[in-house]
Amino acid sequence: MSGMILVLNAGSSSVKCALIETNGHGHDHETARGSVDGLGQDARFRFSFSDGRPNLQLPIAGSKAATHKDAIELVLKTIDDHFGLSRLIAAGHRVVHGGDEFRAPVILESHALAALKKLIPLAPLHQPHNLSAIDAVGALAPHLPQIACFDTAFHATIPAVARNFALPKALTEKGIRRYGFHGISFSYIAQHLRETEPELAHKDVVIAHLGNGASLCALKGGHSVATTMGFSALDGLMMGTRCGTIDPAVIFYLMRDENMSAEAVETMLYGQSGLLGVSGLSNDMRALRQAAADHADARLAIAMFTYRIIREIGSMAAALGGLDGIVFTAGIGEHDSELREDVLNGLGFLGFSVDRKANARHDRVISASSSNPALVIPTNEEAMIARSTAKLITPV
Ligand code: ADP
Repeated sequence: MSGMILVLNAGSSSVKCALIETNGHGHDHETARGSVDGLGQDARFRFSFSDGRPNLQLPIAGSKAATHKDAIELVLKTIDDHFGLSRLIAAGHRVVHGGDEFRAPVILESHALAALKKLIPLAPLHQPHNLSAIDAVGALAPHLPQIACFDTAFHATIPAVARNFALPKALTEKGIRRYGFHGISFSYIAQHLRETEPELAHKDVVIAHLGNGASLCALKGGHSVATTMGFSALDGLMMGTRCGTIDPAVIFYLMRDENMSAEAVETMLYGQSGLLGVSGLSNDMRALRQAAADHADARLAIAMFTYRIIREIGSMAAALGGLDGIVFTAGIGEHDSELREDVLNGLGFLGFSVDRKANARHDRVISASSSNPALVIPTNEEAMIARSTAKLITPV
């Protein structure tokens, strides 16, 4: 079906949105994008148009009490004022957890919504916000079809040997296992590879999604067979404020010997660790690069971030039985040429080397001619959600 799709990505303190025009045959065009940031503090609304109309930027009245519903009301009103709400054919949501049941995008009716609510304990920091955005759209535009796309779904192909933890079987059967996340981004890149690099897409590839959150995905013939995030989005690589993999005994020690509550440990591991915790300066890679020359802890944070990526790519290569290509994506992966160069230098033993000029220019192909291919492909989670949404509402 052709028309305009509203894509919503609701986080704890923000709602990001994009308006994507689709012709129903896989061609999509972003018409506008926006965000409400700082919900619960000093909320601000930003909205930009791709046709050159002036951007909107406004504080939200009574912003300290602004809720997800207020944010979505503002988004829908803005769309109504500038495009007409009747042009919307559906809303597509990013939903972090699909559990065992949802292995593909789904139309949100009452059964699916009830099932998603049951998954809140698996993603308590994200799932409630995703669901409140769905509720808000349901209340404000009850006839608009809504679709959920899951960060976990792309990893449904991971085999049990890589998916299960070495825990008692009864716990595995309760769903205590690796799910993996960033699946919407990984499926966008996998689809892009199929379209643009069909030969490589059939081989063994690692996608490095390196943003504030960061994870790797090992692709065999385009399907996920291993990933670094686990039961939660806390596992795996070091991230902006998250620790990534640590010895779980650290948590018992902190609770028993440092008298920290479970909530305090959780807040520390999710929000005060990673680049921020190690550097004591910032979770933002750009800020760390700027400070690095005079700041030993910023240098250590960057070095640890880089080391962990190299080490985990080695692990992915072992899981795949070889590695034919690497794709860098997301904020750091797309923009930090120094990081990409250091990672590729660390992977010389797997047949990778960098073309320094191409890398500095942020070319699509940044590997030397003698190297296995290393690519930079900007991710587009919103486009992926819009495509999946259009497919589901298109009558077959
Ligand atoms: P999120 O996971 O929040 O979507 P992004 O994918 O936007 O995050 O990535 C944010 C990260 O990308 C930040 O650490 C930011 O510093 C980094 N980044 C963005 N631009 C650059 C750049 N030019 N050089 C280095 N890092 C960058």
